[in-house]
Amino acid sequence: SIQQTQNDVIPRYVRVNTLKTSLEDVIDYLKREGFSYQGTPGRLEDLDRLSGKMFLCDLHLKDLLVFSGKTDFHDHFLYKAGHIILQGKASCLPAFLLNPPVGSHVIDACAAPGNKTSHLAAIMKNKGKLFAFDLDAKRLSTMSTLLLRAGVTCHKLANQDFLKVDPQNSEYKEVKYILLDPSCSGSGMVCLRDELPETQEDGRLQALAAFQLHCLNHALQFPQLERIVYSTCSIHSQENEEVVTACLQRNPGFRLVHLLPDWPERGHEPLTQCLRASTAKTRTHGFFVAMLERRPAQSDKET
Ligand code: SAM
Repeated sequence: SIQQTQNDVIPRYVRVNTLKTSLEDVIDYLKREGFSYQGTPGRLEDLDRLSGKMFLCDLHLKDLLVFSGKTDFHDHFLYKAGHIILQGKASCLPAFLLNPPVGSHVIDACAAPGNKTSHLAAIMKNKGKLFAFDLDAKRLSTMSTLLLRAGVTCHKLANQDFLKVDPQNSEYKEVKYILLDPSCSGSGMVCLRDELPETQEDGRLQALAAFQLHCLNHALQFPQLERIVYSTCSIHSQENEEVVTACLQRNPGFRLVHLLPDWPERGHEPLTQCLRASTAKTRTHGFFVAMLERRPAQSDKET
């Protein structure tokens, strides 16, 4: 089946929730349960040799463990207790890269079901303010449960259209970091991709790209914003590089940040500062991440 194929290629990633435990404690717990820790892999292909109860540390992200794709933790104590989060590697990139300082004010613009919100809270050590918005009430209620289990306390959830959040509202006057992970076509999700007909998609892609650009432009209106991460689980440049390019044209006060020099898959030319992810090159779902930062005030002559 398609699911079987996906499990064969994409490993099971497990993020250690540092709000509740530590990487060392999770590794010890799993070893005592009969899992076999293999250390840090030397290269990508080492992931393909994971089987049974073997596991590794991730090549790029700390607090991320890698298991064979067939490993299921949904009934595991560590998962039920919120000590581990079942989150794909690509989906861990946005919060990891945004890396908001402890105590900062942060917006997660399209937040539900909240895995990235809980990751942000862990990076912030639950200190500061994490404003999380989502339009979908049902997804937000799932999110409340997830955040409770993960021990997140620094958040404020709102069932609100991010496009209608007023950047001038004094509540957000200290917001320097935004994570924007808007609705997308999902074309990078390996299990979905084989089922989506390529044609008949164009109108939908165009509408999604317009929405994504609108969100990105809106996010840049927050007066104290210093950096923003934009991500999608789409493989279409229309939702990725083209959205970022259009946004930069409209907002010359911002520029791209060159992300993870060692990452093997880059944004399409000329946006090589951005990251892409795929089964073939990173053993993840298809994904795109860009980070924009405000240019320093005196930097008119810099590129
Ligand atoms: N960041 C989430 C996570 O890691 O769990 C996944 C977000 S999902 C890709 C996109 C979300 O955007 C959906 O939950 C959807 O309800 C929400 N959304 C769509 N339009 C929105 C809007 N105008 N304002 C706020 N949220 C919106």
